[in-house]
Amino acid sequence: MPTRILTVEDDERIRTSLKMALEDEGWDVEEAQNGEAALLKFRGNPADVVLIDIGLPGIDGFELCRTLRRISSVPIVMITAREDTHDVVAGLEAGADDYLTKPFAPKELSARIRAMLRRVRTVDPALRSLILGQLDIVPEENVVYIRGERIAVSKTEMRLLTELASESGATLSREELLERVWGLDYFGDSRLVDVHIRRLRTKIERDPANPQLILTVRRQGYKLQT
Ligand code: CA
Repeated sequence: MPTRILTVEDDERIRTSLKMALEDEGWDVEEAQNGEAALLKFRGNPADVVLIDIGLPGIDGFELCRTLRRISSVPIVMITAREDTHDVVAGLEAGADDYLTKPFAPKELSARIRAMLRRVRTVDPALRSLILGQLDIVPEENVVYIRGERIAVSKTEMRLLTELASESGATLSREELLERVWGLDYFGDSRLVDVHIRRLRTKIERDPANPQLILTVRRQGYKLQT
């Protein structure tokens, strides 16, 4: 089965060049001009990766991302018009896994998508369930049970959690987490790590403002304590 990518972009010129660049990589590309059309297409036949332009007519890219995230753990890349902290953080908080700033080279986009697919496909199949204290992590289903409650997480949140769990009790730096979760060949932005940690905390911590499971180690990084 070829990898299917759904691109959501209202600018026809950009949409067409995205399609050509992605098809060059051997991927199948589906296009949507707005959020409503994207949801219809995704519900009919879910893509493997979704690219969302933030500036869309009708429901905007953030809202589309939140809506998709409620129904799916699919990897989502947000495309922002500028390297604006507000847009980047808001996109990640809406549930995106990664972002790119316009204009970007098609090769960079392809590299990011490849890294994303590699990491979501390399969850160890032997790792059916990982029980750590009050956490029961089920990577294959992108689900965490905590105190008996079933919590759905995105594929990237799962990858982040399993990396922390694999070193339970040890601190991982933001750089290590960027390498392990977002791909070695990618010079990431530590906001990716911080926003994903924040999202995970809102899901698994009793009081996200006072975390007891995912701890911040000052000037070092994060650790999972169970
Ligand atoms: Ca646009």
